[in-house]
Amino acid sequence: MQINVSQQLRASIGSIRNYEVSETIDIGGSESMVQGEVRLMRTDRGILAKGTLHTEVEITCSRCLSLFSCLLTLNIEEEYFPITDVVSGAWLPLSEESGSFTIDERHILDLTEAIRQCVLLVIPMKPLCREDCAGLCSNCGHNLNQGPCGCLPQDTDPRWSELRKCLSTSPPLPFQEGLIPLSFKGEGE
Ligand SMILES: [Zn+2]
Ligand SMILES: [Zn+2]
Repeated sequence: MQINVSQQLRASIGSIRNYEVSETIDIGGSESMVQGEVRLMRTDRGILAKGTLHTEVEITCSRCLSLFSCLLTLNIEEEYFPITDVVSGAWLPLSEESGSFTIDERHILDLTEAIRQCVLLVIPMKPLCREDCAGLCSNCGHNLNQGPCGCLPQDTDPRWSELRKCLSTSPPLPFQEGLIPLSFKGEGE
């Protein structure tokens, strides 16, 4: 996402230009569409890029482990420092602020890295595909967003084990010719 700012570097401090952004950039190995508006303002030292952008990235739900698209709002505010003087072409001393963004010798301001860094900051630590994501069954691993699995609830609640005792000692089914009553199976266990 490169913008040529040679004209604006010659402009007076405080001059403003607005840019529509609509580009795909590589974020974490996949192409993501980034859209929005960025305002560039000439400062005494360089150019301040400020704007709100929107993008969508594919991330893994921390609860059900499925991939989903997450909408992100990126608030960008970075000052870019030219490495050469736009008029004389002479090299300028680098800013003492380590990691600051630069405008290259062709007067290109590149927003890509600032956008990438912003994405890393706003991606949730524990992303959820939806707020009420039901997660995975701790017993069989079934994704409970797709409906219940066949597992009985865990034995943590003593009331369930009482219920289970009742089930296993339920009276035999009425005898039907040709059918073996279920209660005969496993008798004596
Ligand atoms: Zn989920
Ligand atoms: Zn289960």
